[in-house]
Amino acid sequence: MGLFDDLVGQERATAVLSRAAAAAAEVLAGGRGAGMTHAWLFTGPPGSGREEAARAFAAALLCSDRGCGHCDLCHQVLIGSHPDVEIVRPQGLSYGIKDTRQLILRAAGAPTLGRWRVVLFEDADRATEGASNALLKAIEEPPARTVWLLCSPSPDDMMITIRSRCRIVTLRTPPTGAVAHVLMTRDGVAPEMAEFAARAAQGHIERARRLALDEDSRRRREAVLSIPRSLVGVGECVAAAEKLVKTAEEEAAAVSAVLNEAETAELRKIYGEGSSGKGLNKGLVRGGAGALKELEDRQKSRATRLKRDVIDNALLDLVAFYRDVLAVQMGAQVELANGDLHHDLTTLARASRPEETLKRVDAIMRCRERLAANVNPQMAVEAMTLSLRRP
Ligand SMILES: [Zn+2]
Repeated sequence: MGLFDDLVGQERATAVLSRAAAAAAEVLAGGRGAGMTHAWLFTGPPGSGREEAARAFAAALLCSDRGCGHCDLCHQVLIGSHPDVEIVRPQGLSYGIKDTRQLILRAAGAPTLGRWRVVLFEDADRATEGASNALLKAIEEPPARTVWLLCSPSPDDMMITIRSRCRIVTLRTPPTGAVAHVLMTRDGVAPEMAEFAARAAQGHIERARRLALDEDSRRRREAVLSIPRSLVGVGECVAAAEKLVKTAEEEAAAVSAVLNEAETAELRKIYGEGSSGKGLNKGLVRGGAGALKELEDRQKSRATRLKRDVIDNALLDLVAFYRDVLAVQMGAQVELANGDLHHDLTTLARASRPEETLKRVDAIMRCRERLAANVNPQMAVEAMTLSLRRP
């Protein structure tokens, strides 16, 4: 049934959303539409497809064929150009009250095309307290045709007052088989590679796709997973931490450069730079400089966030590695995320005890928490690699 079919392994969530879309159509036809709600909270672990699910639902509300996936309206929703869909994607580490107030004003207008006005708020957990309070007021008294779709990793990431006014849609980590199937059928990946990538990415579809299609990202994963075996002395631990942070910096810089260039060019075009400059309104030129400064600030905080995300992904790979070690130590019959590193896993499993492995997993989780709390990455990662030192 159209776009909902693209959500991998989310049958329960899509059943709820399909019913709600049908109820929404009923409302438009003058009916009661029991089952339609004005505020939704999409939650699920990274890679479960929260944003995709919210987007599919937005299309289902706005397309006359409940999100067929083929018509112009569906296409506009997917690429973010539909006049009645506002996609909010916080670029920095947090989303402030000023932006939220403006957003609420825009959201209050009647839908241009007569159906619904949809606000899709990605990473809504990044809203500051002030912004959350403003958001709460908007959700409490929604205009008749405005629908809020908030996305956050878990319901607990949102203020309880917001969460209690939203209908919660829970996405799950899709099973490995389902992810591998998508890679094969949609991206033309060979079965063996699809299976490997799906396992290594532990159900995170986008990561699995990158691993399957991009050799660089396979190389980076290998580099991260070679860390455990390298940690024999203090010097090696310090060096490994430095390398991990530096690689993350490089990867984040590469991604930032591409994004920044396009945005800056776009802004310069808006403010008429590149033309002769003659007759340009002075106020406009000043406005341009201000907007450029603002954009640069946003890009800087995004770069910081990207770097942190890259390190976090590496840490998740390490957690998966030690979880595999633990599984080997306990003789658990589970699917290993890193079956390709069987030799490393068994060597470490034999050389240490399960309690030690658990302590190592704790050290990695602590490092993730410290990074989230803005501790200097080099320091946090170094403390972690020292705790991972081999027996
Ligand atoms: Zn459609």
